[in-house]
Amino acid sequence: MFYKESVMQPKLSLFSILILMHIQPTPSADAKDSTPACQKLQPVNINQVLISDDFWAPRIRVNRETGLQHALGQLDEHGNLSNFAKAAGMIPGWHRGSHAYDSDVYKVIEGAAYSLMIHPDQQLENFLDKLIDNIAAAQQDDGYLSTSFILEKPEEKWQNVRREHEMYCAGHLFEAAAAYYEATGKRKLLNVAVKLADHIDSIFGPGKRYDVPGHEEIELALIKLYRSTGESRYFNLAKFFLDERGYAHGEERKPFDSSGLIRFSTPPQNREERIRRIMVRNGRMQDHRPVIEQTEAVGHAVRAGYLFSAMTDVAAATGDPDYFNAVTLLWKDVVQKKIYLTGGVGTAQYYDEGFGDPYLLPNDKAYSETCAQAANIFWNHRMNLLHGHAKYIDVLELSLYNAFLSGVSLSGDRFFYRNTLTGSERSRRQEWFDPACCPTNVVRMFPQIARFAYAVDDQGLYINLFVAGSSKLDLNNRSVKLTQETNYPWDGRVRISVDPEREESFSVNVRIPSWTQNGPLPGDLYRYAKESAAQIGIGLNGHLLSDVPLKNGYASIKRTWKKGDTIEMEFPLPVRLVLAHAKIEADRNHTALMRGPIVYCFEQIDNQDLFLSPMSELQLDEASFRPEFRENLLDGVVILRGTARIKSGRNEEGKEIELQAVPYYSWNNREPGAMAVWIRTDPQR
Ligand SMILES: [Zn+2]
Repeated sequence: MFYKESVMQPKLSLFSILILMHIQPTPSADAKDSTPACQKLQPVNINQVLISDDFWAPRIRVNRETGLQHALGQLDEHGNLSNFAKAAGMIPGWHRGSHAYDSDVYKVIEGAAYSLMIHPDQQLENFLDKLIDNIAAAQQDDGYLSTSFILEKPEEKWQNVRREHEMYCAGHLFEAAAAYYEATGKRKLLNVAVKLADHIDSIFGPGKRYDVPGHEEIELALIKLYRSTGESRYFNLAKFFLDERGYAHGEERKPFDSSGLIRFSTPPQNREERIRRIMVRNGRMQDHRPVIEQTEAVGHAVRAGYLFSAMTDVAAATGDPDYFNAVTLLWKDVVQKKIYLTGGVGTAQYYDEGFGDPYLLPNDKAYSETCAQAANIFWNHRMNLLHGHAKYIDVLELSLYNAFLSGVSLSGDRFFYRNTLTGSERSRRQEWFDPACCPTNVVRMFPQIARFAYAVDDQGLYINLFVAGSSKLDLNNRSVKLTQETNYPWDGRVRISVDPEREESFSVNVRIPSWTQNGPLPGDLYRYAKESAAQIGIGLNGHLLSDVPLKNGYASIKRTWKKGDTIEMEFPLPVRLVLAHAKIEADRNHTALMRGPIVYCFEQIDNQDLFLSPMSELQLDEASFRPEFRENLLDGVVILRGTARIKSGRNEEGKEIELQAVPYYSWNNREPGAMAVWIRTDPQR
């Protein structure tokens, strides 16, 4: 208990948004009108949803009790916390760590704030208040705030916003401030955020300085700050930073001449220079052309995810068709060509933690940074709200249960930065990273999962995720209680009780996951080896419903609802063999296993025969795999056990071997060793 110990000790080192019409280009300055006008669905608040299932609830608790404490302890140990006291002049000393260090503190405050909304904790709040006092004390009179520059190089403030992370840190401050204000009603951190935003607004913008940050984040955060304060200047500044991408930077807007910027008349002198050029050419910072002309996802995947999120916010707020089209095309590019089976995005192709070429998805060279999954999840949530279509939640769910969740150990205090689809003896989660972008994104993600579970519009309710628990949703200013009972993702049965305040006609829209159809994702990047004949059953008050209309990926049940009405869904959960698009070279003649939204993997500890080198070519039959729930394994998982016949390799043709697959997210929680999601199979497949 980091903060609980700390508050006992006097040394406390804190001490230590398809709407093709232009409704309004700039949102109203009235805070009440800051609800995005042009998105189909509205989100729910975290504190409207109580998750009490056996899958997420324990993880949210572990994140709160262990992950959050661990993060605060690491931030103290690495000097992130004391940097604020030093910048405030409260204690002597040099800045410790990188120019991104402040952002890690802000992300943990944001995660802690969301945690307080579902689990009040006065000691934690007291600790955060003191930390916020130090952050406020570190802020300079003109509003500037970056402990790195204040302490190390004050003369270089805002000198290189493309390389430095001042705006990235500011963005995470704005998100933390909005969250802490929402959670506690306390304005101190929000005031710091407003003062810094005003400072930035005084330097950058039309008629001022035309420049954009190299690492996006501030754009989506300024829109959050606008929603918290009602101050439309922040929305306008966010849109400025978006609209200025793809132009030459300076004192006025100048067209971006790509031939000028990327004119390399001499060959690269060294590896570093070669990599730098590749990065620029690849649009590492998504600054290679105006955002509304960007139709292909390129560059650093975390930066891209935050950028696309902000672009979706602008589309939602303004209905701008250019923004709308850009995010729609970018999403198609990612989901149809550049995403791993695990929902992970980003490869190491260009040495840049970014999107690779179409269909270039190497399993061992996957980057799939935990932060990129967080960004992709945030973006897909916004896309769901913008379009009102369930397919975005398919992507969100796949990433959440697989690529994101593998980023943290079952214990909540060990992390992967990269989430590769193969592993080796050397693969180890780490207790922290420097900078700690990934662990801090883990800390802030768990308490936000409640937000993704539901959405509303004025016609009804939308059930996106299947998680046991209860929620109170607002429908046209009336409350509807929803109670879900399910053992998802291990069991496909979901029981939903609908309890409106009084009898009322509306729709309950239940997402029909993509994985119940012919593949785990919209598009043709991955498909099941065999089509399933199993039907989804939908019942109402004990009677099977027929001809339930499917609208935008949701089974839409419209009727007059009354207290005690119950929907029963049953999603068949057969074991599925998954094949990749023929253009994905790394997965050619390979097969993976899924059951529901869960991607499986094979670990050496369970499959010694499989990992003899070279890996044998196997003949797989999905009928040979049986799901078994193991309560005492990996905090309770459904494993898949089966047999396969060796087709070639090691002179053992025809030999039958036993295989055991565990959920991908749970790998590397027992002992180090090899791991594979895709295994070599019959090339005829
Ligand atoms: Zn990261």
